[in-house]
Amino acid sequence: MGLFSNLFGGGSSGSGPSTPRYSNVRIHPAVDNGVKAGSASFSGGTLKCHCASDKVEVEISGQTAHNHVCGCSQCWKPKGATFSQVAVVGSDKVTVTRNGEKLDRVNPHATIQRYACKGCGVHMFGRIENTAHPFYGLDFVHTELSPASGWSEPQFAAFVSSIIESGYDPSKMDSVRGRCKELGLEPYDCLSPTLMDAIATHVGKANGSLKS
Ligand SMILES: [Zn+2]
Ligand SMILES: [Zn+2]
Repeated sequence: MGLFSNLFGGGSSGSGPSTPRYSNVRIHPAVDNGVKAGSASFSGGTLKCHCASDKVEVEISGQTAHNHVCGCSQCWKPKGATFSQVAVVGSDKVTVTRNGEKLDRVNPHATIQRYACKGCGVHMFGRIENTAHPFYGLDFVHTELSPASGWSEPQFAAFVSSIIESGYDPSKMDSVRGRCKELGLEPYDCLSPTLMDAIATHVGKANGSLKS
């Protein structure tokens, strides 16, 4: 027991670094009780829509990446959630296996073509059809639609300020960002630096400014 323990330690073993201050703030059911780590050996699963019968099923034959919670108004969110939870996976790993006739595009003009179930409204996957887009070849999926555990865990919170556009009280944003940080989900008002850099690199190469 030394200085560290005197300053920061004490209490029973297994207690967190500090008592959460914002645990009453709801982000998304998948993270509200703490972020559960994904499994390195996980190899995919089946997403199912919320219909009581004739569910749309989409098979994902691989682990997802860049999972995050998203505050934008376009992503599908479960009832009562402030954020969506969304990850990416290669389009070649996404296959509609059941009741695909129930799928329809939410907005044919959007950058991400989100395919939703006409019965329950759940978005089953979002695809970028524009071959020039930095994220072409990737699909956006909500892994909470799969009963399997081991999917990659959310790593950050994107488009946090955008929750205000959906009606969230702007005076409560400090608590929202505080809760995201408590959960280890660094809050950003766009995407994470890694993804913003990837987008800018693509644009820089496409316009010739960035040689490599
Ligand atoms: Zn459905
Ligand atoms: Zn979003």
